[in-house]
Amino acid sequence: MAISPSTEKAGAILEVDLAALAANYEILKQRAAGAECAAVVKADAYGLGADRVGPVLAAAGCRTFFAAHLSEGIALRQALGGQASIYILNGILPGTEGDFRAHDLRPVLNSLAQLDLWQGAAALHLDTGMNRLGLSPDDAAALAAAPERLGNIDLRFVVSHLACADEAGHKMNELQRRLFDRLRAALPAKPASLGNSSGIFLGSDYHYDLVRPGVALYGGNPMPGAANPMREVVRLRGRIIQLREIDTPQSVGYGATHRATGPRRIATVPVGYADGYLRSLSGQGMGRLAGVSVPIVGRVSMDLITLDVTEAPIEAAQAGALVDLIGGGGEGVDDVAARAGTIGYEILTSLGRRYHRRYLGAETTQDE
Ligand SMILES: *Cc1c(COP(=O)(O)O)cnc(C)c1O
Repeated sequence: MAISPSTEKAGAILEVDLAALAANYEILKQRAAGAECAAVVKADAYGLGADRVGPVLAAAGCRTFFAAHLSEGIALRQALGGQASIYILNGILPGTEGDFRAHDLRPVLNSLAQLDLWQGAAALHLDTGMNRLGLSPDDAAALAAAPERLGNIDLRFVVSHLACADEAGHKMNELQRRLFDRLRAALPAKPASLGNSSGIFLGSDYHYDLVRPGVALYGGNPMPGAANPMREVVRLRGRIIQLREIDTPQSVGYGATHRATGPRRIATVPVGYADGYLRSLSGQGMGRLAGVSVPIVGRVSMDLITLDVTEAPIEAAQAGALVDLIGGGGEGVDDVAARAGTIGYEILTSLGRRYHRRYLGAETTQDE
């Protein structure tokens, strides 16, 4: 694989493996058995670039996409061209009907008011326990009593969203599924969609006609606690730009939170919280250099982290060397998230804009 000059010069390199992304789509499609497999590409495809991710998924056979904002849908339509169906999870705001039409976007209708606003193809969201978006059970009953309110709607899907799908044994899952069935039964029969990434792994009862994975496409583990069935999509590496030998009683970084307890070799890497390398990884994060775990010592600052590379082979721990921070030989997105006290979703969607991005595994590797 040719390394472009910009990759060689970059202080931090984010690689997105598009072949792994396509493989993950295939894995999820197989798991969902007969159901159609859509793709959730909100938040710029969980930080990976919806304009690159969307076309790869479309080429892998995905025909239905979900974005959150109207603006995301417009950008996605430009990236995908005319073929795919694009749904907007956040619904439709008064005055935006023309934008939906101009870009051939479909709202996920979240309220009776939105239903009255729209004419054309749409999904209908029934709230079965999130209490966030969608028709409440009372709204759904009102709609069932006045089905003419659906008169102008070309209803493609009735959808709901699981609150606890990542906990397979959680009683909410079945409660939501049953409520979904009960609410749907009072409405005109339409294709249904309930499962997100984790929902696919709850079994065929949760698949219905369409599944809506997001995070698992991007390599996140849809079954926390079990082995991750997904392929790794993201690799982040940072370059050592300076090395410092320190000894007691010196300290490292802001707040002098880390104190050397003997002779240590400290590597500075230009990745910081401004890049989405969360400050909560201070003293918690772990890099990997030449097969050796190298801990983040001291605080994560805006543009820099410091790692104790004393245990790595000296010939590897040199200025210019690349340290794995996410993926590659190092810890995966979910491991990094656990260290940061968050979830893989936040690590992905926080990935910074300053990284040199490389998209691997498409026809040709492309640097951006
Ligand atoms: C974000 C989202 C999804 C995808 O969830 P993952 O857990 O990332 O698979 C599916 N459906 C809705 C309504 C969402 O908001």
